[in-house]
Amino acid sequence: QLDPANARLLIVGLGATGYSAAQFLQKTPIKFAVVDSRKQPPLIDNLREQMPDVPVFSGGFDQAALDVATHLLVSPGVSLHETAIHKAVQAGVVVISDIDLFACATDKPIIGITGSNGKSTVTTMLGEMANAAGAKTAIGGNLGTPALDLLQQDADLYVLELSSFQLERTRALNAQAATVLNVSPDHLDRHASIESYAAEKQRIFRGGGTMVLNADDALVMAMRDANRPTLTFSIQGPADFYLQRGETVNLMHGNQVLMPAAHLRLEGSHNLANALAALALGSAVGLSMTAMCSALRNFKGLPHRMQKVAERAGINWINDSKATNIGACVAALQGYDRKVVLIAGGDAKGADMAELAPAVREKTKGVVLIGKDAQLIADALQDSVPVRFAGTMKEAVKTAASLADAGDSVLLSPACASLDQYRSYVDRGNKFAEAVMELPSC
Ligand code: ADP
Repeated sequence: QLDPANARLLIVGLGATGYSAAQFLQKTPIKFAVVDSRKQPPLIDNLREQMPDVPVFSGGFDQAALDVATHLLVSPGVSLHETAIHKAVQAGVVVISDIDLFACATDKPIIGITGSNGKSTVTTMLGEMANAAGAKTAIGGNLGTPALDLLQQDADLYVLELSSFQLERTRALNAQAATVLNVSPDHLDRHASIESYAAEKQRIFRGGGTMVLNADDALVMAMRDANRPTLTFSIQGPADFYLQRGETVNLMHGNQVLMPAAHLRLEGSHNLANALAALALGSAVGLSMTAMCSALRNFKGLPHRMQKVAERAGINWINDSKATNIGACVAALQGYDRKVVLIAGGDAKGADMAELAPAVREKTKGVVLIGKDAQLIADALQDSVPVRFAGTMKEAVKTAASLADAGDSVLLSPACASLDQYRSYVDRGNKFAEAVMELPSC
């Protein structure tokens, strides 16, 4: 709790999160100011117009503003290693996040979702399941609407997607149920090590609610706390929510068959894990299993995640442009029974691309590499499969078509960020879809 008599809060970073925090704080007695290192931060004009009394410093981290601050609300895009922030922390200033303000401002149940991959899918899926089960549910956080803006929706239940950067600066979430879906290397250019990255994610469990853990992920299972209510999920073995593999593959809860896996409209075995995680989270807050399963049957998935673009000349073209790290690409490849042609590459963000090699060797008949780190990936693959290079997406699609036969799939699952060549993963996925649509249909 911030004491309005003594607290001086400084919002660091004026993007969507910082602006939502300013809007929230303006309705409270807490004194605050805003600082941004950019000369013209994206929302500065809105702030000046809507909140003319709020002091705002741009073009650097104003030292005087930092000197009077008791708390820093640091936006997820700003690194805590930034010298000015690091110094302030050393001097005893407390770092908080918009999620802390959110958690203090509501007494409604919160479900928190983090993980290296699958956050947006599970958050959206669970939102639809919860609404179908009759709980007025608002979803957001790292996805879509900033958490504090969700308070205006007056929901019965909040489902928050949370990134490691948000969690790193969150002190008290106290979610009624929370999950770390998986931990695989990502953002290692901003986190010191995979262990520190996992530790940031573990902060989602601060409080007393149900922990939903992925039994297939050792780094996640190491977060288990024997004193806490826990539900596990698995697509490989026994767990509270698991897959029964027989003539039909079923999603199970204990002895109860929830639904056949074939009833899901989603591609990829990792989406079965996502469905089991969402069911476990929903059950932890008492949602009806029947209603959740019926919403699950209708869930079509999100664009740019294992999305079927088209079939051309008997070849299936799949857009998984949101695969911006190795874990997502490996999960996509592992979902296939037959070898595919993979289009990958971009900015590897400091990850060790050798970790991609085993799945590529096992599941692909050829790889087309794009972007800044194409050569780095080629070196890591060590000639295990045929490799081609392409300068543009159009060229990559044409080359992939020449490597594939009728009945094959071509998968864009880059294992890299897109910003070296594209505006975003959405732009990259759209360019892929456009190039596919230009291919002859037979
Ligand atoms: P996030 O919000 O964590 O980035 P998304 O749901 O947007 O997650 O999916 C990002 C990428 O990860 C996509 O390529 C998707 O196919 C892949 N993915 C989704 N769920 C999983 C999972 N459980 N394990 C591994 N990869 C996944």
